[in-house]
Amino acid sequence: MTVDSRESSSNQCTIVYVLGGPGSGKSTQCSLIEKHFGFCHLSFGDLLQAEADSGSDYGKMMQDLKKEGKLVPSDILVEALEKAMQESKNKKFLIDGFPRKQENLDAAEHILKIKPDFVLFLDCSEEEMIKRLLNRNQYTSFVYVVRSVIEPGQVLLDSSLINAARPIEKVFDAVKDVFSMS
Ligand code: ADP
Ligand code: MG
Repeated sequence: MTVDSRESSSNQCTIVYVLGGPGSGKSTQCSLIEKHFGFCHLSFGDLLQAEADSGSDYGKMMQDLKKEGKLVPSDILVEALEKAMQESKNKKFLIDGFPRKQENLDAAEHILKIKPDFVLFLDCSEEEMIKRLLNRNQYTSFVYVVRSVIEPGQVLLDSSLINAARPIEKVFDAVKDVFSMS
């Protein structure tokens, strides 16, 4: 859609960033989009967890950062993203949980020369997100990441704001509209 033509011609990928707080429904909606529109879902939480589990030096560093409630540096995120994109045969990517801040976005743009075609922002109140995560006993993960969640409009991206405080199917109806229009 709005990809810079010079840059998109070099990678020929479709890239959608999916943003929203923990419990806003990113994983849930991404798996529906994956099935419905044939995208490859790259979850940053999962990528970083896999690295942490591997016991590598990076992994250990990331675990420490998580414990301290700090963000992983942009260059490491971008490297993880590049690796995951290269390993996939798909050319359509849903990137979930990235960017967390403007610097991440700039790093992806400058290092990988990628820009999202569009951005979905799953907008959900903190109260509703906490309720969902408590149902799943995931409240601690909320406490870890809530400080790093970006607010709508905080990142200078043109994003489609989706009201995510509705039943899963209703949210997906709105998501489908965005994908169908692009
Ligand atoms: P995220 O990836 O943004 O952290 P998830 O998709 O993992 O969020 O959803 C967190 C929890 O909330 C899960 O238990 C999920 O089933 C539930 N959930 C997701 N979307 C909705 C929704 N629209 N309404 C109610 N519960 C939801
Ligand atoms: Mg998730």
